[in-house]
Formats: sequence, C-alpha cells, structure tokens
Amino acid sequence: MTSSKNIDAQPTVQIEDDRTGLGIETLRRAIADNLFYIQGKFPEIATLNDYYMALAYTVRDRLLQRWIATVQTYMQPDVKVVAYLSAEFLEGPHLGNNAINLGIYDRVKQAVIESGLDLEALLEQEEEPGLGNGGLGRLAACYMDSLATLEIPAIGYGIRYEFGIFDQEIRDGWQAEITDKWLQFGNPWEIPRPESSVLVNFAGYTETYTDEAGHYRVRWVPHQVVKGIPYDTPILGYRVNTANTLRLWKAEAPESFDFNAFNVGNYYGAVNQKVVSENFTKVLYPNDEPVQGKQLRLGQQYFFVSCALQDMIRIHLATGGDLERFHERFAVQLNDTHPAIGVAELMRLLVDEHHLDWELAWDVTQKTFAYTNHTLLPEALEKWPLSLFGRLLPRHLEIVYEINRRFLDWIRVKYINDMGKLSRLSLIDESGERYVRMAHLACIGSHRINGVAALHSELLEQTVLQDFHELWPEKIINVTNGVTPRRWMVLSNPRLTDLITRTIGDRWIVHLEDLKKLEAFAADSAFRAEWRQVKQANKQALAQRILDRTGIAVNPDSMFDIQVKRIHEYKRQHLNVLHIITLYNRLKHNLDLDMPARTFIFGGKAAPGYFMAKLVIKLITSVGDVVNRDPDVRDRLKVVFLPDYNVKNSQLVYPSADLSEQISTAGKEASGTGNMKFSLNGALTIGTLDGANIEIRESVGAENFCLFGLSVEGIAQLQDRGYCPRHYCDRNPELKEAVARIESGYFSHGDRDLFRPLLDKLLDRDPYFLLADYQSYIECQEQVSQAYRDAEHWTRMSILNTARMGKFSSDRSIREYAEKIWQVQPVPVQLQNYVQANAVLNVR
Ligand SMILES: *Cc1c(COP(=O)(O)O)cnc(C)c1O
Repeated sequence: MTSSKNIDAQPTVQIEDDRTGLGIETLRRAIADNLFYIQGKFPEIATLNDYYMALAYTVRDRLLQRWIATVQTYMQPDVKVVAYLSAEFLEGPHLGNNAINLGIYDRVKQAVIESGLDLEALLEQEEEPGLGNGGLGRLAACYMDSLATLEIPAIGYGIRYEFGIFDQEIRDGWQAEITDKWLQFGNPWEIPRPESSVLVNFAGYTETYTDEAGHYRVRWVPHQVVKGIPYDTPILGYRVNTANTLRLWKAEAPESFDFNAFNVGNYYGAVNQKVVSENFTKVLYPNDEPVQGKQLRLGQQYFFVSCALQDMIRIHLATGGDLERFHERFAVQLNDTHPAIGVAELMRLLVDEHHLDWELAWDVTQKTFAYTNHTLLPEALEKWPLSLFGRLLPRHLEIVYEINRRFLDWIRVKYINDMGKLSRLSLIDESGERYVRMAHLACIGSHRINGVAALHSELLEQTVLQDFHELWPEKIINVTNGVTPRRWMVLSNPRLTDLITRTIGDRWIVHLEDLKKLEAFAADSAFRAEWRQVKQANKQALAQRILDRTGIAVNPDSMFDIQVKRIHEYKRQHLNVLHIITLYNRLKHNLDLDMPARTFIFGGKAAPGYFMAKLVIKLITSVGDVVNRDPDVRDRLKVVFLPDYNVKNSQLVYPSADLSEQISTAGKEASGTGNMKFSLNGALTIGTLDGANIEIRESVGAENFCLFGLSVEGIAQLQDRGYCPRHYCDRNPELKEAVARIESGYFSHGDRDLFRPLLDKLLDRDPYFLLADYQSYIECQEQVSQAYRDAEHWTRMSILNTARMGKFSSDRSIREYAEKIWQVQPVPVQLQNYVQANAVLNVR
C-alpha cells in the first residue's frame, strides 16, 4: 500500500464541502442525491412530493452543523436555558422559512430551477404541522423564531399529535372536518431521539414508607406507565448560528409492559396496552377558547409536562448541576394553564424522587416557573373535577392539597376572618362540585404572571386575578404579544420586503423599529405608486387562489376587506355579515348607488362541537351565494369564504388585505396577533378598543386606524343599565331590515328556521353586544369607503401603518420576557465541524 500522507495527515479547511456546500451546483447535486439515496427514486418515477422531500433534506443538511453546535453549547453548565412549555405549537411550513433564515433562499430557488423544477410548487407540497388551534399556538411558534434569532438558549416542549387541527372543507356551505394526516408522507424536519425516552406514570395509588435514613416518604404505585419519546425539530434563527430545539413527545407503551403481558400469555392485552398508551398523543383537542373537561386532555397535559421536566432534570444532573439550583439552569414558561400541572410535578420530582425538603423544593419551583395568561373568558379557565384529577394523578392531588394547606395558612394570618378571600384564593373550588383550579396553581407556583396586551393585563389585575394582585402587587406584569417579521413579512410578502429593503436597507428584519424610516417616503408619490403596485400584485395572487379554491372570481381592484381567525361569537364575524347585508339592502334600494367595490373575505375554523360558530359559517356562505349571483349587485359586492384557514394559507392572505377586521367585543380578545400581521403588511384596521388593537392604534396614530364601538367601560355601564338588544333592532331601520332579510329565509331558500338560533340569541341576549355596536360599525365602515376613494391618501395611511409597527415584533416581546421574567442572556454559538475534525464549515 502506498502511503497517502498528504491526505491523511492534515485535513484541509473546507471552503465548500460536497455534502453541505452552498453553491448552486452543489445544491443541485444534493437534491439529486437525496432523491436517489433518501427517497429511493430517480427522475422518471419521482413524484412532486419526492422532490419536496429531496429538497427538504438538502436544506436540513445545511442546518445540522448549527443545530448540533447549539445543543453542545447548551450542555455547558453555566448556560441558562428557557423551557417554553406549550400544549400547542402552530409552526407552519419549515422549508421556506429555513431557507430564508439560512440566507440561501435565492440559491435554492436557482438550484431548483436548474433541476427543472418550480420552487413554488415544491413549497406548496409541504404539509404544515397543524399542532395548534390558533393564536396561542402561533404565538409559541413566533416566540421560538425570535428566541433563536436573538441567540437565547431555548427548548420548546410540547406534544407530537399524530393528528393536528382538522382540515376544513366547505360542503353545501357548511364546515366539514377532515382528519389531518400530516405525517402520512413522512416528516423530514424531525429526528426521533428514542435514547432520551422517559417514563410517565398514571393512576394507581400512593403509599408511605420510611427510607434507610429514617425519613418519612411517599411512593406512587401507578396503574399505568407510558413511555415518552422525544422528536426534535431544529428552529433556526435568522442569519445566526443558533438553531434551538422544538422537542415534541410521542406516547408509546414501554416494552417491558408488553413483554410481561406476553409472558403470561396475554398477547392481545399487550397490544391493547400499546393502543391505549398511544392515545395520549393521538389528537389535538380542536377547541380554541373554551376547555373540555375530558380526562384524556388532562392526561395529555401531564404526559408532556412530566416528560419535559424529567428531561430538564436529566440535562441538569448530567451537566453536574445541583437540584437546589435548578432555577439557575432553566426558566420554565407556562403558555396558559395547559402545562400548569408542572408546578405539582416539579414538586413531586424534587421531593419524592430526589428527596429535597418541601420548603427548599417549593422555593426552587416558584423561582423556576412563570405563567402567561391568555384569556379572561370564564369558560376558558381550566378546572378539573377533583375526582377525575385524583383518579388520574393521585400523588399530585396530595401535593396540591399540601400546597394549598400551607398557602391558606398564610392567607388566614394575612387576612384574619376573611372567609371570602380564603374561598376565592383556594386552589380548590368548593362552590359546587369540587374542582382543582389550574390558573390558581399556575399563579401560586410562579414568580411572574403576565398578560398579553396592556388592556388584558390591566383587566387581569382588576378581575380574575384581583385577589392575587392584592397579595403580590409586583407579580403581574404585561408583555404585549408580537409576531415574527421573518415569516409574516420576509417569507410571506417578498414583494413588499424587496421594496422596503431597496428603500431603507435590510436591518429592519431584525430591528423592526427601523421601519420608522419609511415614514419619510409616505410623502413620495413615486414610492406610493410602487407601494400600490405591490399590494395590487399580492391581491392578484390571492384572487387567483380564491378562484382555484372556491370558483369565485373576485376583482383585484376592489377593496379586500378581510376577517380571518377562528370562528367565535366574541370575535363577531356575524357583525361583519350584518354590515354586508346592510350594503346589499342599500344597493337593492338604489341600483345606481355609488360605492367603492368591496370583496369580503372570511376564513377560519369552528370547533366541531360549537354549533353557533358553524352556523355563522353557513350564514357567510349563504349570504355569499345570494349576493355573488345577484345581477343587481354588478360586482360591487363579493363575499368569499376561503376554506381551511391555516398558517400556510394565511401567508397569502395577510399581505393582500386593504382592510383588517378586528371587531371583537371590547374586553374579550386578550391580544390578537392577526391584527399585527395585517397592519405590518400595510392594511388599515377597522377595530374596537380591545386587546392589542389599542396599542396598535397608539402606534400607527388614531388618524390611520378606524375605531368604532363601545369600550370596556361602556359595555359594563350598558350591562348595568340593563341591555335590551331588541330595542336597538326596533329603533334602527337598517338593522331591522338586515335582521328581517335573514329571518325571511332570503338567504336560505325560504327556510325561516335555519338561522333562527342565531337571530334569537342576538335579539334575546346578545351577550357580545353586536346590536349595541352595529350603528357605530356601519358609520365607521362608511368612513372607510370614503377614505378608500382617495387612493393617494389611503396609500399614505397604509405606508404609515407598516412604518409604525416596529413595536409588534416578537423580538421585542422576547427581549421583555428575557429581561423581566427569565433573567437570561444571549449565548452566541460557535460553529465547529463535527463531520470533519479541524475543518471549518463554509457559511455565509
Ligand atoms: C395569526 C393566526 C391566528 C391568530 O389570529 P387572531 O386574528 O389574532 O385571532 C390564528 N390562526 C392562524 C393560522 C394564524 O396565523
């Protein structure tokens, strides 16, 4: 053998290695290789999905060095890591986002073209992981993006639902739910880590014993044991080396259980055990705001939270940590009360499993957790019947009682003889059937509680958390939500991104406040013309999509008036419908009425068991069927329901809006984030003084925001005076006519009963005050129409909306969390070459 001294002795520094190089030719080769070696296909027999997979693996390969380097960096014991616990992560498709954050989007596009393919078509192939319902899950995804971009060490912990949020189809105008089989063609973005599996106990009983040292201890003897297997997805920051991990848990049966059953000859019992175990991560509960008191749901919550905390403790101990200082290693954020059982679980792990004293464990627990409240709606506050809770988690019920006993002892001393305080603050609701109050557990077990918009945080202090606020005046703070400009501008609105970057440079992508520099250009008529062209092109793209998906042709020159969000009575999609019917009636009365043409676009899913929300969808499609076909309308009104609203579909919607409908009843929408995406993309908002609308209006200027409706105080006063919705109807001829139009069966082929439940509720109770706000809404819409006639003025307002939305970047939100709640610092990641020792990866 000849010696190959030159090659073996000193690996050369790789400028562009064959496997992960970023040159167009290398990328093209990688796609072809992956098609063959991963998909096992060659071009003649490859499907579009095969090509998508080949491209996805090509991009994934290019982020692995960063991901592994990030994981290694966080194994240093002095690094503090944020653990974001959320039952939902609504990530959206990964391919385009990763290509942008890596800085290789254009080269990928070129490589795809040179492979004879179309990038748009490949991006379209990606099945989105719909592991969330709406705003709450999407917020978690935006926060993961910002954490990575800001180089803050973080792990997102959640559930790998086999079936995410259902796909929506519209059949005969009604919503139909289709199972979301997002994993059926494989998921190239996840890597299972079975070696990091953990066991989670359920049910059974507890017993006491005395350990070798003579300590009194409690042992939990479970009836069921489930194995949690982590599936990791990299979340890459924008143009940084940090790729944090989203670690989602899948439930399986532990092999030992199968084996035992097999030994005693119960093979089918063992298989059944497997089926029962896997149920824990089978399906996402599709209710947005209200909770469902189902045992399986509590099981899901406990399952992923226990997996996450065991994982953190393992990491902490493996890197030489001491459990008394767990809170210095991990800051755990509870995204709503869904993971609040974590407070009792960490106590159990520290006291029962790791033998810390109760007081010390409690101190560590409180310093570890912080809790984000997302809602004031009473029906959305989680509470579990004591019996159900105790059956599934017998040890946790004891721990909750012990936390409560110590807490109430303190309250008794603090507020002598105040029984009201005691019963209101207790972890146990004893007003009727007894419940465990999860928000109370989260509040008592956390060192910080935050609301998600200024108004929401204020209302929290005044209402549902009033007693806690009095107890701990410093504990409740506000962190207004934000959205990531990478997905919600750079990826979804490339035309506007290009125009803005040509005008003010590209720093705004990571310093959104920089958009302020656009203000100067609002006065520049050439810039305004370009701005309008961008909006027009975006509207054309959406119009094409609407035609493809619904068969309805809409005019891109009309005003695109859009309301997309979950369907819910408090969000008042039916108030929007009352406006549409009012315009329709006016047109029918005056066929020559001069009004700017409007296209009303709706999208959103209704919870499958939410009858009224499903009826609202039927109302929208029914009104559309009549209005869109009426020759008298002459295309001045179009009504479209765009099916299957999700992250992927929404990316075409936000950039195309002229008008954003944010019309919830004041005090009901905690923050909203759709409102931010629209305004960032240059839509004007018609909205109430609710959630983050208030702060958006303050930022963009009252003159660039269309405000209507009662305030929180106005609604409270009306309620106190005695609200009678029917009076509003009787006294308002246009409202009366709109209601009568529905009642007459005009939109339901003469069926006067179809929409009766909806009308009855509006006229009898109207708990969301549609009729009280109707006149104000109609008048405001009138002003919108007038303003739209002046295209130059409208464009100026549109530019100013975008220019002044800097505050609403999720980067700003995450900086606030880091400083006020987590006490964490950025930790930049140094790249190493793990593939080839001593070689440096070529990255731009
Ligand atoms: C942003 C977003 C939401 C939240 O919208 P809101 O208008 O704030 O309720 C819900 N679903 C999807 C898919 C989103 O992208």
